Amino acid sequence: MKKNNIGWNFDNSYLNLPEMMASKLSPVPVKDPKIVLYNQRLAKELGLDFSSLSKEELASIFSGNVLPEGTTPWAEAYAGHQFGHFVMLGDGRAIVLGEHMTPDKKRFDIQLKGSGITPYSRSGDGRAALGPMLRECIISDAIHYLKIPTTRSLAVVSTGQNVMRETILPGAILTRVAASHIRVGTFEFVAAQKDINALQELIMYCIDRHYPELKGEKIPALQLFRAVMNKHADLIVNYMRVGFIHGVLNTDNVTISGESIDYGPCAFMDAYDPKTKFSSIDHKGRYAYGNQANIAQWNMARFAETLIPMVDVDIDKAIEILEKEIGVFAKIYAEKSLAMMRGKLGIEGEIEEDNLLIEELLTWMKNNKADYTNTFRAITNQDFGAIYQNKEFESWLKKFESRNPNRDKMRQYNPTIIPRNHKVEEALEATNTNNLQPLHELLKALESPYAENKEFSSYQDPALETKTPYQTFCGT
Ligand code: AMP
Ligand code: MG
Repeated sequence: MKKNNIGWNFDNSYLNLPEMMASKLSPVPVKDPKIVLYNQRLAKELGLDFSSLSKEELASIFSGNVLPEGTTPWAEAYAGHQFGHFVMLGDGRAIVLGEHMTPDKKRFDIQLKGSGITPYSRSGDGRAALGPMLRECIISDAIHYLKIPTTRSLAVVSTGQNVMRETILPGAILTRVAASHIRVGTFEFVAAQKDINALQELIMYCIDRHYPELKGEKIPALQLFRAVMNKHADLIVNYMRVGFIHGVLNTDNVTISGESIDYGPCAFMDAYDPKTKFSSIDHKGRYAYGNQANIAQWNMARFAETLIPMVDVDIDKAIEILEKEIGVFAKIYAEKSLAMMRGKLGIEGEIEEDNLLIEELLTWMKNNKADYTNTFRAITNQDFGAIYQNKEFESWLKKFESRNPNRDKMRQYNPTIIPRNHKVEEALEATNTNNLQPLHELLKALESPYAENKEFSSYQDPALETKTPYQTFCGT
């Protein structure tokens, strides 16, 4: 196979970490891999060129049947708090092919998800189903073009093998591209081993890889904590801005890089309601839309706990220092959130009443079941449908207009197109009969979410009301 001109440039720094952190192994070959999706634009951004390869050759690379030269694949060990409970986990169905260095010296993990059993598979089959992998492609693309840091999806192949879930489903492998796959759960894994040297190594590794500006700081653990906490405050603010509900913000799904990762039961909200949740297993709304900031703070507290021995030799003092740091989260988040909402309303100067103006609008939206995305777009474009023709809204609008909003700014904060749940379902359903057209059209529409594009106006309508609310499943 003509493999040399693809542009792979592997430099697997993760394998220099203590041995317990990864298991070297190859993906389990699959029977009949076929390429379903391939993101050529992303390949180009990574400095990769697969154009000399046939479809069959592409499929064998993205299924893991053929390994690129210069790499020793591995599965990563990690732990995590899932719905509040500590568990030992690890890549149970994923393998990092290697760290690819782009021509502009950026480092990305190239990971196969659904690549077969690993030492961390527990009772799982190590595989993934086609629908959920395509769903991850759709959502990660949407999040990326909404200008939110995220892992990306380079390709999906079907494996020619079935997986057993509630029903029999076609199997698939997703190629995921990430700044790294290091999670809060990775720190929890190392902390659980009570290996201080390994913890120190991991901290320095993360600083080197993700926060090089922190090199040489006096207490690296503390600086790293602050940096990660800030990134996650930003990430949640971005989720809130576009109405995104991740759905499973367990600590093993919280990256140290600050990228959004693991698109399982996630979905976008239509009508504004902070209690919105879609996941079939999130009975108490732990990961509901309006609870995401609280959960991020909770997750950061779990991260802080792992760092205690590296903050001060006096444990009590270390705890005191870290508690203070976590305590700042609410303030940092509130400031970022207010700035974001001012952005959505195009407000430039800051006055105290802005908080009230924002609150009043959100309350009105909730009481009137107004669509979150379309309401901000209506306000931006001064183009109001029937639902807005009422006294309460009109009086709010008067106050709002007196703030002389900057509508160009509003257009940068408020998307026109989000992956509406019914559109995602429609696209996925069509793939069951090998019709990829709706999927490709959806992906195209999601590429410019802030534009007013007549061609894509059908993607703006919320779903018709149904008797049963939309539900998402973990899809493992
Ligand atoms: P997730 O819900 O995707 O964040 O996964 C949580 C944990 O379960 C991770 O350790 C996964 O590797 C593992 N896992 C999920 N699905 C499977 C599967 N089909 N086989 C083995 N492990 C799995
Ligand atoms: Mg996960």
